[in-house]
Amino acid sequence: MMEFHSARERRAYYHGLTGEEKYAALQEMVDASARIVFFGGAGVSTESGIPDFRSKDGLYNKPDVQFQQYAPEYLLSHDCLFDEPKVFFEFYRQKLDVRSVEPNTAHYKLAEMEKAGKLSAIVTQNIDGLHEKAGSKTVYNIHGTTFRNYCTGRAHHELPADFIVESGEAVPHCPICGRMVRPDVTLYGEALPEDAVDGAVRAIREADMLIIAGTSLTVYPAASFVRYFGGENLVIINRDETPMDREADLVFHESIGKVMERIHV
Ligand SMILES: [Zn+2]
Repeated sequence: MMEFHSARERRAYYHGLTGEEKYAALQEMVDASARIVFFGGAGVSTESGIPDFRSKDGLYNKPDVQFQQYAPEYLLSHDCLFDEPKVFFEFYRQKLDVRSVEPNTAHYKLAEMEKAGKLSAIVTQNIDGLHEKAGSKTVYNIHGTTFRNYCTGRAHHELPADFIVESGEAVPHCPICGRMVRPDVTLYGEALPEDAVDGAVRAIREADMLIIAGTSLTVYPAASFVRYFGGENLVIINRDETPMDREADLVFHESIGKVMERIHV
């Protein structure tokens, strides 16, 4: 690794790199790190063909359930789940059933990095379970996951991953207590899951390298999480510019898979 006299000098050096030099620098950073944390947004999943679920384009409307009149945020909100559960679950089944989707290069590379003892955690805003499917163990799902369901009764009975999608009912109910079943996903109007948030913050604080990918870093809570990072190497991989590009050491405005596959562990 290069020696620098100041953070400013360090950034100036890295920002001056181009093409292959950047990949070489990325590899050097990975080689020098042992507690890498990957913070991922929607862009990580779109490369697996998952559309941005906040968009309601191309939705099939049932004759008795019309989505056009609703904002996408409402369809994934706490209010919709409890006030119009039939609408909520129809939208959920049509848009968020990702069981047939496969992980991509980035997911697999991250699982490999964890196995090699390089990566300590993945923090993801995605709810599709693709990191776990690729074999990653320490994953903080800060918006929850569609692969867990529980009932809204006092006992919070856990139901199988397929329960909501396979339920023959328009609004699924718990076979044990009869209360409505919901996905373990953070809806608009709900607080983030405490355990996942605490774990994510701890991992980011202890990280020596942070790779931020597939997020514009403009919306809460992404930007606030990243502030906990005090380690050496900060890398951003995103199609478009982000407000943190200037603070990062290396910035790739490219496909996440294309960049990640260049890392060797
Ligand atoms: Zn129950």
